Amino acid sequence: MTGDMTASVHSGNDNSGAAVRTPITMANSYHLPPDPESMSWSGTDQLFYTRNTGANQVALQTKLATLEQAEDAVVLASGVAALHAVFFTFLSTGDHVVVSDTTYEATWKLWTHLLPTKYGIEATFVDITDHDAVRAALRPTTRFVIAETIANPTTKVADIAAIADIAHAADALLLVDSTFTPPPLYRPLSDGADLVVHSLTKYINGHGDAMGGAVLGRRDLIDDIKTQAMVDVGGVISPFNAWLIARGAITLPLRLAQHQHNARQVAQFLADDDRIAYVAYPGLPSHPQHALAVRQFGGRGTGAMMAFAVRGDSATQNRFVGNLRLITSAVSLGHDESLIVHVGSDGPRVAAYPEEFRTWGHLRFSVGLEDADDIVDDLRQALDATFG
Ligand SMILES: *Cc1c(COP(=O)(O)O)cnc(C)c1O
Repeated sequence: MTGDMTASVHSGNDNSGAAVRTPITMANSYHLPPDPESMSWSGTDQLFYTRNTGANQVALQTKLATLEQAEDAVVLASGVAALHAVFFTFLSTGDHVVVSDTTYEATWKLWTHLLPTKYGIEATFVDITDHDAVRAALRPTTRFVIAETIANPTTKVADIAAIADIAHAADALLLVDSTFTPPPLYRPLSDGADLVVHSLTKYINGHGDAMGGAVLGRRDLIDDIKTQAMVDVGGVISPFNAWLIARGAITLPLRLAQHQHNARQVAQFLADDDRIAYVAYPGLPSHPQHALAVRQFGGRGTGAMMAFAVRGDSATQNRFVGNLRLITSAVSLGHDESLIVHVGSDGPRVAAYPEEFRTWGHLRFSVGLEDADDIVDDLRQALDATFG
């Protein structure tokens, strides 16, 4: 298969039975072979128990590996389960990681608190755009450098090829959370990342109705995650969710094109309105990593996630959100509908955010698939209602 749309339509679809689509197999167990005593109960190749593997997991893993151009994939119950599966599998007490100072909330909590206190794994937080700081943070015990391609929520962009070189020079692996930049927009493995994590809950499912997570990369690494984190710790995805996500992913390239088309128009509208305090979107020339984003993503776009604030205090941000009619106030992102969330100033994490985030707070905005003009009209009427 050659093109992205052909791959997203056909890859992983099992039409070997009578039906032309992969059926949903809601079974915990599959028939054992006549001589089961020779089987490994920790095996992940043979269908026998859904925590080891299942027909719908296999279908989704195949599609995702094709889309990401990865050797293999493992799918789990959520994005956070996928992140934890990597850390649990490859890290032991005494190991060290270097983590971007701007990440998804749960990643930040895992590394500031849970993993250091429970497992004795140490983390150093760095500004991932400061390559000297990344280099300086490395230790002989550093096993991973961990970054988001476009960071949640500030949209800071990591230079994956450069960071991969730095990590590899120190014999560390680079783990990239690419949730904001799903394929075909970007494929971090092609720039030297060792493992890629996606929250499938977001763009890859894309319809806001199923949670899932995936890790992609070299087969030996993915095998270790399957046998250790999936089989013996759990966090397995439901076959129904795997089926829903494989179905959603069929339109991923089409949806991404529309998300990004809308995001460019919306970002420009916000940038041009002086009731808006600031807009952080890698597609705007004012973004600090605009040039990197354009080069790194090969001109295929800069995603559809942005953060901004209206000129006013926290109550004004809430009033603005309350005045929106089309755009939904809810967490999550990458759904078909536009989603906005006033995150507020949540303590120590904010210290690493740019000045304007600390001054005004921020609204994290996932630009949806509605008509761009309707999204812009809703923002405009809510601004008019807020500022009278
Ligand atoms: C949502 C998200 C996650 C966690 O995914 P869940 O599916 O909610 O567990 C991880 N990383 C990023 C960047 C996210 O946006």
